Amino acid sequence: MHPFSYTRASDTREALNAGRRGGRYIAGGTTLVDLMRETVERPETLVDISGLPLREVRATEGGGLRIGALVTMAETAAHPKVRALYPVISASLELSASAQLRNMATLGGNIMQRTRCTYFRDVTAACNKREPGSGCAALKGHNRTHAILGTSDSCVATHPSDVAVAFAALEATVHLLGPDGERRVPFADFLLLPGRTPNREQALRPGELITAVAIPALPRPLRSGYLKVRDRQSYEFALTSAAVALHLRGGIIREAKVAAGGVGTVPWKLPAVERHLIGERPSAALWAAAAEKAADGARTLQHNGFKPELLKRTVERQLRVVGGTK
Ligand SMILES: Cc1cc2nc3c(=O)[nH]c(=O)nc-3n(C[C@H](O)[C@H](O)[C@H](O)COP(=O)(O)OP(=O)(O)OC[C@H]3O[C@@H](n4cnc5c(N)ncnc54)[C@H](O)[C@@H]3O)c2cc1C
Ligand code: SF4
Repeated sequence: MHPFSYTRASDTREALNAGRRGGRYIAGGTTLVDLMRETVERPETLVDISGLPLREVRATEGGGLRIGALVTMAETAAHPKVRALYPVISASLELSASAQLRNMATLGGNIMQRTRCTYFRDVTAACNKREPGSGCAALKGHNRTHAILGTSDSCVATHPSDVAVAFAALEATVHLLGPDGERRVPFADFLLLPGRTPNREQALRPGELITAVAIPALPRPLRSGYLKVRDRQSYEFALTSAAVALHLRGGIIREAKVAAGGVGTVPWKLPAVERHLIGERPSAALWAAAAEKAADGARTLQHNGFKPELLKRTVERQLRVVGGTK
């Protein structure tokens, strides 16, 4: 680990001042410290933000929710409002990491976590994300777990967060505070496609702090859930996953929100699947036909050719579970 200095911010202003001077925020520390041990990350100054007042979950006008950036994964998953309004968020968190990690890790840190691509974490390997211009060892290497959507010739790494898939499906907004004041970024614009600059991962400006994630009000009743397919049943990242939320009235699907994980370089919203569902009556045939569109545009690598089919089956199964037909 490289030497670093540590400071604990006692209020938001102090944190922003330290952030503006190049300090790196640390919340639960569950992923940043690992990366520092592996020397993938080498911040000179850590700014501990865990004492800031960003720990509230509250209802917003119209029936949405605002979840503070420092609310832990465990607290978010267990929160009565989250459980009642958006079970897909609770489920995605409960299927993430381990109980110990969920007790420490925060929501802001979760959506900021970096890829689990093994080459990214091996400082001896070529990796454009870690070392721009060095190449991408995954393109011709072990790429079984890598992305099939949103990839570029520079990077094919997946975004590992589960709850980010739920946020993408529900069209959440990220609330930010920086030296120039507050701003709000739609979740779809917050995490960046790799393109030619895979080292740029989020739409954060220097020194900006995530203060909250807001979930919009959606028509009620809203059924929702998350399915995660992985190599082992716990403590493992997704090979594929599906976040689904459906609003039915009079037996017709009036609103559909669907996104996939484990397959995209960012959580992958599935608008073609959503469009296929809206205005239709639930049926096994409908779920299958909609899920057929889930892998549109997929580009496979040598070892992940199984992912398009697995993705379609994951989406179909979760549509069936949430939509309520056999
Ligand atoms: C073994 C293991 C298994 C895991 N499995 C899963 C899994 O299955 N699914 C899943 O989704 N996740 C998984 N994770 C990741 C875990 O969820 C993250 O480590 C955790 O959410 C990060 O939160 P943190 O508060 O500890 O972040 P930190 O480590 O403190 O910070 C992470 C990053 O976020 C930045 N940051 C933190 N808060 C803010 C803020 N408010 N504003 C701006 N920047 C900020 C930091 O600067 C840093 O770059 C796993 C982690 C481990 C170690
Ligand atoms: S896939 Fe991305 S993170 Fe992995 S080695 Fe290639 S450039 Fe690096």
